[in-house]
Amino acid sequence: MYPGRFDYVVAEDVSEVVSLLAEHGDEAKVLAGGQSLIPLMKLRFALPSVLVDINRISSLQGLEQNDGYLRIGALVRHKDCERAESLRGRYGVLGSAAPQISDPIVRNLGTVCGSVAHADPQGDWGSALLAADARVVAEGPKGSREIPLSELFVGPFTTTLQTELITEVRVPDPGPRAGGAYLKLERKVGDFATAAVAMQVELDDAGRIGRAGIALTGVGATNLRAEAAEQALAGAEPGAQAFAEAARLAAAAAEPVADHRGDVEYKRNVVRVFVERGLAAAAESAQGGAR
Ligand SMILES: Cc1cc2nc3c(=O)[nH]c(=O)nc-3n(C[C@H](O)[C@H](O)[C@H](O)COP(=O)(O)OP(=O)(O)OC[C@H]3O[C@@H](n4cnc5c(N)ncnc54)[C@H](O)[C@@H]3O)c2cc1C
Repeated sequence: MYPGRFDYVVAEDVSEVVSLLAEHGDEAKVLAGGQSLIPLMKLRFALPSVLVDINRISSLQGLEQNDGYLRIGALVRHKDCERAESLRGRYGVLGSAAPQISDPIVRNLGTVCGSVAHADPQGDWGSALLAADARVVAEGPKGSREIPLSELFVGPFTTTLQTELITEVRVPDPGPRAGGAYLKLERKVGDFATAAVAMQVELDDAGRIGRAGIALTGVGATNLRAEAAEQALAGAEPGAQAFAEAARLAAAAAEPVADHRGDVEYKRNVVRVFVERGLAAAAESAQGGAR
């Protein structure tokens, strides 16, 4: 099907995007990689009257380490993250998720910020960034504000964003003794997750777990943080017993629904097994030393 009629504006800078969003409200849509928006428009599930293309705004580029955090600009593509050396080691949960998103065509165009703005509960970035305790920077008519990922998702394809542009994601530097993993079960290469889990483990000076981030994909109305599992790990000695208990708690936090990808108990069990394995991998990476 062809999309409905719309005006197309190539924005020159962030302030022009903010003005256009303020002027047109819900009628306007930001166009980043187009990998979710264009299919929705072709199906006429989305009928914006104005498309605001942000792809020529150079200030939205950039995947770089700043003072205390990693900055992922709004035009950073999935493929940039897949190839980035900086997303190994302490940012391993992000580097591990990137190549598991869809196929190379989608990864060449789709953006990290577009993915979190889209808020698909089966989106992989939402969980990876929740586990990493990330925040988005949103620019609107009232200025700029930071929103923790844990406060961004409110329901399927629904966020707390107002008429705002996400200009970047900020991922706090977890320090050198941190590691992560993203484990995803998909029916075939390129599919959305049947279930997936994101893990970040940060060790303290004594080698105990200082902070653990665990988030789940495809088993709830949003990407979900497994908070009870995270709390059970805080201060624990990394090892099989702690990981098995955290995995049990994470599976209990999952809210899967039965569909063509599997039934409820199957998906819950995938979460349990993957969290246990993923925590072992993340802890091993964290114990690998300074990076
Ligand atoms: C065949 C296929 C398979 C896929 N498989 C997966 C998968 O396995 N895992 C996965 O996670 N994703 C998957 N996706 C989705 C893909 O990752 C998209 O790239 C992503 O969801 C949206 O990013 P985008 O840059 O393409 O956003 P767009 O499609 O351009 O925009 C998506 C939405 O976000 C809004 N938006 C975009 N950028 C911003 C911004 N900076 N600020 C505010 N609002 C913004 C748009 O207005 C729109 O509403 C798949 C897509 C396709 C087509």
